[in-house]
Amino acid sequence: MLFSGPHSALQSVSTIVVIKVGSAVLAPQGELDVRAVAALASDIAQACAASRDATGLPLRPVLVSSGAIASGFRALGLQTPPKTIVLKQAAAAVGQARLMAAWGKAFAKHGLTTAQVLLTADDLDHRTRHLNARNTLCALLDQGVIPIINENDSVSFAEIKLGDNDRLSALVAGLVSASRLIILSTAQGLYSDFATKGVGSPIVPVVTSLSQARALVTNSTSGVGTGGFGAKLDAIAIAAAAGVPATIAGGAVPRVVSRLLAGEQLGTHFPLSTRRVGARKRWIALASRSKGTLVIDAGAARAILRKGASLLPSGIRHVEGTFTRGATVDVREESSPGAIARGRVAYDASEVRRIAGHRSKDIASLLGYVYRDEVIHRDDLTLLPADADQEKP
Ligand code: GLU
Repeated sequence: MLFSGPHSALQSVSTIVVIKVGSAVLAPQGELDVRAVAALASDIAQACAASRDATGLPLRPVLVSSGAIASGFRALGLQTPPKTIVLKQAAAAVGQARLMAAWGKAFAKHGLTTAQVLLTADDLDHRTRHLNARNTLCALLDQGVIPIINENDSVSFAEIKLGDNDRLSALVAGLVSASRLIILSTAQGLYSDFATKGVGSPIVPVVTSLSQARALVTNSTSGVGTGGFGAKLDAIAIAAAAGVPATIAGGAVPRVVSRLLAGEQLGTHFPLSTRRVGARKRWIALASRSKGTLVIDAGAARAILRKGASLLPSGIRHVEGTFTRGATVDVREESSPGAIARGRVAYDASEVRRIAGHRSKDIASLLGYVYRDEVIHRDDLTLLPADADQEKP
């Protein structure tokens, strides 16, 4: 059944923690480091045992593991990470199998079973596939299996690519309503003065404003990974919008996961509070991709932002892009550059162009039919967090 209710894994208090591990942690020299994999598997297994003892509730870890490309390119005879998409895909196909074999073996030593789940942006974009992915993940968790997720690199191309696994991990954290997202990287956290002191500068322990964090970031990547710190902050904003607090910490720190889950202060914690919205609205805002933009006037923007109103044709000034009925589109106020909301349209782009600026009662005479009075009903409309930047209450 595709649209079954929330799975039991989602009904209980969430003990689901999404742990993202970067390529540079797992394959620092462009070779999978099985000792790093073994150390993390043992750490996660210990954390599972400790949580069972302490709370009676088992920790349910979901791993988002990068490292497919980094583990596979040398086997293709390449000396440096590939630059072309085709070679990246080939390297990922070789490396993903090696990566999963290493995780499987490492967790098996602790009596734990792993499962490979490969996703593309498309899988998170389509509501049905999105729900299928969620049901599969929850079924795995209910069976005590550790899902290990990566982007399906060997079939992903620019159009359907998520881009980086930081973003994937945040979307997955929202998908499974995780209680926490832990991003493990070669960085030990957010450095307070990376620009002048580099990795020697102190780590900021807690960040409650993403824009302040962005000001500290110089956008450098570690070489083998895709992310960079800017991508991590983008991911944290996505997680925050889904109500999931995040932590960035060093992946090579001994027992990092167990220590974080035991409450130890390590790395940088981002307890950004945003409204918790329902799973469907969250999917509209974050996972589904926008196919166009409705540019609206100030009055309509006020009604949406302040009163939670639906978007009527009368407030629409312009339509950008081509989209079908049911597509996800951005909603932007005409005088500002960024989208304020995102929603699912009841009319296609050419229909919206014809009814824009008119009253709902005129839809019938303009189109010859009426699907509904609203172009985007309030139930299909989600406000976008400006920068997921609300301060902690
Ligand atoms: N999916 C890629 C891999 O496993 C990594 C993407 C990323 O590091 O963000 O090689």
